[in-house]
Amino acid sequence: MSKKIQAIRGMHDILPDRIPTWHRLEDTARRVLEGYGYSEIRTPVVEVTDLFKRSIGEVTDIVEKEMYTFPDRNDDSLSLRPEGTASCVRAAIEHGLLMQPQRLWYRGPMFRYERPQRGRYRQFHQIGVEVFGLEGPDIDLELMLMTARLWRELGLEGFRLEINSLGDAEERAAYRAELIAYLEAHVEQLDEDSCKRLHSNPLRVLDSKHPQTREIVAGAPSLLDHLGATSRAHLDHIRAGLERAGVDYQVNPRLVRGLDYYNRTVFEWITDELGAQGTVCAGGRYDGLVAQLGGRPTTAVGFAMGIERLVELLELSGAQDDPGIDAYLVALGERAQQEAPVLAERLRDTLPELRLVVHAGGGSFKSQFKRADKSGARYALILGEDEAERGVVGVKALREQIEQRELDFTALAALLAGTPA
Ligand code: ATP
Ligand code: MG
Repeated sequence: MSKKIQAIRGMHDILPDRIPTWHRLEDTARRVLEGYGYSEIRTPVVEVTDLFKRSIGEVTDIVEKEMYTFPDRNDDSLSLRPEGTASCVRAAIEHGLLMQPQRLWYRGPMFRYERPQRGRYRQFHQIGVEVFGLEGPDIDLELMLMTARLWRELGLEGFRLEINSLGDAEERAAYRAELIAYLEAHVEQLDEDSCKRLHSNPLRVLDSKHPQTREIVAGAPSLLDHLGATSRAHLDHIRAGLERAGVDYQVNPRLVRGLDYYNRTVFEWITDELGAQGTVCAGGRYDGLVAQLGGRPTTAVGFAMGIERLVELLELSGAQDDPGIDAYLVALGERAQQEAPVLAERLRDTLPELRLVVHAGGGSFKSQFKRADKSGARYALILGEDEAERGVVGVKALREQIEQRELDFTALAALLAGTPA
C-alpha cells in the first residue's frame, strides 16, 4: 500500500468551520485599516533569496535557519517569503511608489522553518502595515492607535502594549560596544546562539528566549540610557500620545525585535492567554532599509500581526462567527424540480445578500428535509407539485416554533429580507 500523503508538518488546512472567524478578523482589519487611509498591496510569495538576506540580516534566526530556500530551474536562489516587509520595500522601490508618502497594508501566508508548536507554524499568515516617507513620531503613534482600535472592534481584551526605542545608528553603536563588554564578562552563562552572536549581532542576545541568557540579559545596560535628544523626544511624543488617547503601555528596555532593520521605535502587543507564543503584533521603525535595498533614502515604519494567534484568541473568547444560511430549498416531483432553480435565481436577483442552498441529488421528501435541518438554515422552503402548480412555496421555520405557512413570491422575498409582510 502506498504511503498516505498528508499536509507538511507545521502547515495547516483551515477547514470550513473555522473560516467564519478568519473572515471576521480579515474583514474587520481591512475595514479599520482602510478607515485610516491605508491601501492594500499584494506581492509574490517567492522572492530572490538576497532580498531577505540584505534586509532581515544574515545573522538572524530567520535567515540563518528558518528560510525555505531552493534553486529554481535556472539555478537562481529563491526563498518563500518569511515576512512581508522586505517585499513591500522592494515593490515600493521597483514601482516608484516612494515619490510621496505611502500608507500600505498587506496580508497573506509567510513561511518559516521553525519547530511547530502552539502559535508557531511553518506556514502562517500575517496582516501587516508599512508606511513610507513619514518620519515623525505621529505616524508611529497612529499605528499603535490603529491596532488598539482593531482589538476593540474585534472584542479582544487584555493585550499589553510594550514599546522601546533602539535609538539611531550612532546611539546604537555606542550602546553596542557597552553591551558587548557586559556580555563578554558573562560569556560562560550564555547559550550557544548568543555566544555566536555576541560580536556579530549583540542586540539579538537581548531577544533570546533561553532562560539562563535571559537572566544575564536582565542585568545588561539599558539602551534607553544611550538615547540622544532626538530619539528621546520621538519616544516621548509617542508616550504622551498614548497617554492622551488612554491606551495603556509599558516601556520595555529589553524589547529589540528579531530582525536587524529596526531603529528608534519598536513595539509589541502581547497577551498572556496563548502560552509561550504571546506576541500577536509586532513592529517598529526601519528608516535605513529602503536605502539599504537600493532605494532613495526614505523613512519607514510598520508592523505585522499573526493571524493564527488572533484567530485562536477569538475562538477562545467563544465568539460565534458562523453566519449560517438563510434558507434551504427542497423540491419534490418532476415539475417542482424544474421550477426550483428558477425560483432560486429569482430570489437571488431580488435579494443579493441571500444565502440560499438549493437541494441537489433528489431523494425522498424526508431525506431532503433532513438535509435542510442539518444545513443550519433558518427556513426550509418546500416546493411540491401542488405548490409549483399554484405559484406558492411552503415555508417552515427550522429554528423557531412557527407553523408552516404558504407564501407567494412577494411575501417569501419579504420574509427572507427580514421584513415579513
Ligand atoms: P516570535 O518572537 O514569536 O518568533 P517574531 O519576532 O519572529 O515572533 P515577527 O517576524 O515580528 O515575529 O512577526 C510578527 C508576528 O507574526 C508575530 O508577533 C506573531 O504573531 C506572528 N508570527 C511570527 N512567526 C510565526 C509563526 N511561526 N507562526 C505563527 N505566527 C507567527
Ligand atoms: Mg520568530
